[in-house]
This record gives sequence, C-alpha cells and structure tokens, in this order.
Amino acid sequence: MRDIADIRADFPILSRKVYNKPLVYFDNGATTQKPQCVLDAVDEVYKSYNGNIHRGVHFLSDMSSEGYEGAREKVRSFINAGRKEEVIFTSGTTGSINGIAFSFGERYIKPGDEIILSRLEHHANIVPWQMMCQRKGAVLRVIPINDNGEIIPEDYHKLLSKKTKLVAVTQASNALGTVLPIKEIIEAAHSVDVPVLIDGAQGIQHGFVDVKALDSDFYVFSGHKIYGPAGIGILYGKEKWLSELDPFQGGGDMVDKVTFEKTTYNQLPFKFEAGTMNYPAAIGLATALDYVSGLGRENIAAREKELLLYATDRLSAIKGLKIYGTSGKKISTISFLLKDIHQYDTGMILDKMGIAVRTGTHCAQPVMDYYRIDGTVRASLCFYNTLEEIDSLAEGIEKVKSMFG
Ligand code: PMP
Repeated sequence: MRDIADIRADFPILSRKVYNKPLVYFDNGATTQKPQCVLDAVDEVYKSYNGNIHRGVHFLSDMSSEGYEGAREKVRSFINAGRKEEVIFTSGTTGSINGIAFSFGERYIKPGDEIILSRLEHHANIVPWQMMCQRKGAVLRVIPINDNGEIIPEDYHKLLSKKTKLVAVTQASNALGTVLPIKEIIEAAHSVDVPVLIDGAQGIQHGFVDVKALDSDFYVFSGHKIYGPAGIGILYGKEKWLSELDPFQGGGDMVDKVTFEKTTYNQLPFKFEAGTMNYPAAIGLATALDYVSGLGRENIAAREKELLLYATDRLSAIKGLKIYGTSGKKISTISFLLKDIHQYDTGMILDKMGIAVRTGTHCAQPVMDYYRIDGTVRASLCFYNTLEEIDSLAEGIEKVKSMFG
C-alpha cells in the first residue's frame, strides 16, 4: 500500500483544522471523506460535459450518457455482477431497500408471509420491510443476537420456514461492527428457495464483494460510504428477479410506450431508473471505486485490521470503558461507553478536541435495546486513519474521564 501521508494528501479535508486542532475523523461509518480525484470527476461533469443523460442527440448529452453508462460498468465489475443490466442506480442504500421492498411486496407477498431480518439491522433495513408487511399483512421475524453482538445461526435456521418469502440482512453492523456470516445465511435461505437481500452499506467499504460468488439475490449500498459522492447508490438484483418485478417509481426514461390507457416499461436497467438520475454522482462513484481498486482492496483490509486491533487494545486498556460488539469478526468500528458518563457528553468533549465520533443509537435502536442502553460512542476507522490518531482518541477519552472526576 502507498505511504499513509501520501494517501492522506489525496483527501483535502483531512488537512483541515476544527476548533484550531487537527481534524481526527472517526465517523467513516456515517460517511467517508472524498479524494481529490472524486471531487474533480464531479466538477468535470458540470464544467465540461453536463447534459441530461439518455435524452438528447447532442454532444453533451451523449458524453454524459457515456460517462453514466461507463460508471454502471465500473460498478458491475467492482461487485462482480454478471451483467450491467443487473446494476440499478438509486439515491442510496435507503432508496434501494425501499424500492425493492415495495416492488417485491407488491409482486410476491400475501397475508401471513414472513420476512426475516436480524436484530443488527440499521433502520433502513427494518422500516421499509415493516411498511411493506403492514400493507400486505405479512410478518417480520427477527434473528436474535448474543452478548458479543453476533447473530445466533441456530435461531436463524429455526426461523426459516415455508412462510419465509425473503431474508434481508446486513453484511456488517454499523452500530457494533460485527461482520455477519452472509455466505452461510444465503446458502441456508437458498436451500429452501428463499431469496436474500444483503445491505452492503457498511460491508462495501471494508470488504470484498463478489455478488456472483455470494450468490446474493439483491445487494445494496451507498456511494458516500465508499469515498464517492452522496445522493447515489446501487441496487444490484439478479436479472431473474428484476425482470419479474414491476418498477417502484414511474416517470421519464423508465418507459417504452405511454398512452393514457396503458404504459409499457423500458428494458433493464432503465425500467427502475425513473426521472433524471444523479449522473454526476454516478460518475464520481465510479472514480471512487477506481481509487479503492488502485489502493488495493487486500491492502485496505490489512490496514483496517491493523487499525482495529490497535484501537481495540488502546481503548480496552482504559479503565471504565466498555466496548459493545466483541465478535472476532468485525469491521474497523468500535462502539463504547464510559462508566457513568453519557455518550453524548463524551462525543461533545471529543469534538472540541477535533475528534469526530458518532454518538447515539446509530439508527439501530433494536441493538441498543438489546443492551438496555440509549446509545454508544462510535469510532469508525478506515484506511486513511493513523495509529497516532487512535492515540489522540485514547488520550481524549482519558481527558473526558478526568473532567468528570
Ligand atoms: N444500512 C447500514 C448498515 C448503514 O450503515 C446505513 C448508513 N448508516 C444505511 C443502511 C443507510 O444508508 P444511507 O443513509 O446512505 O441510505
């Protein structure tokens, strides 16, 4: 992997100060910072070739369309999808899950059917299914977790039944960092002919994703969590599902023929892309994926493992600090609480030292309920973080403790 100082220099924001202190950015689980090449790619669209995609015969529209479709191919190759028709652009993970929950629900779900989720899900992978269940009279079933913050596989197997119509689980918990055994989850579901959606919002940033090897039916993620722009996301779906499902939104570009009596839909992937898509962000996302591939996904994984181990050692050594999420398989995310100090106070004081962490429930209230807490402090690390920054965090936490006596 390239030298860390060199890599950090690719990210303009990392050299800024907050409250006159060097920024220590440990909120990569919420969103990642962007390398200059991504900023340039988006800028270049607007500066040099902005035109609405798939619409015009003119030069600029053609160039934008080429950039957008080229971005689709880049995403296809990054996640190893079989065909680019299986890669749908959306507004993000939330947009993708809402879309598929609607279309899947309308097409296949009947009263009494069941959808299986895990207790580790982000609200974005709970609420859309709940809304669909309410509409269709279906029922959510939840895979329980243990004290380490891992799902309990035997309980998952018990939940799978003839009533199960879909399993939707996260690749990694944003609240605790736990990596789920998604390959096994998919295999078990497929053995009873049940499709699986994987929420890759966290997984995409840290892991290798090969939707073909996983045999995942749906895989969703957001561009902003993998060093790309906000407002763009991916819904990967196997062609057999996407061709059977009806669109979740209607509008321009997703149609073939429109009359007041009847509309026929465009072919894949356009059938699921109604209206003007965020093509500059799609092009920025493709640049981000190139950037990640350039650093090397193995290198990133190795570096993040080193950061996680170091941070876990440093924080575990702090008296009165409890880490939530102690699985042996984790992304580089550490959730913790200090004894008798509210997570919000810890986060506020760290912020004043220039250290950005997340506090609260992390949009995963069922996880917090499991531990009977109202939130944690979360440090989510990625490859551009340094061991020195982890030292600053540990020292910052000691200062918080001393302030609270
Ligand atoms: N799922 C998980 C596991 C997440 O971490 C997040 C973002 N925190 C989401 C879904 C939602 O992503 P977005 O807000 O980009 O749609």
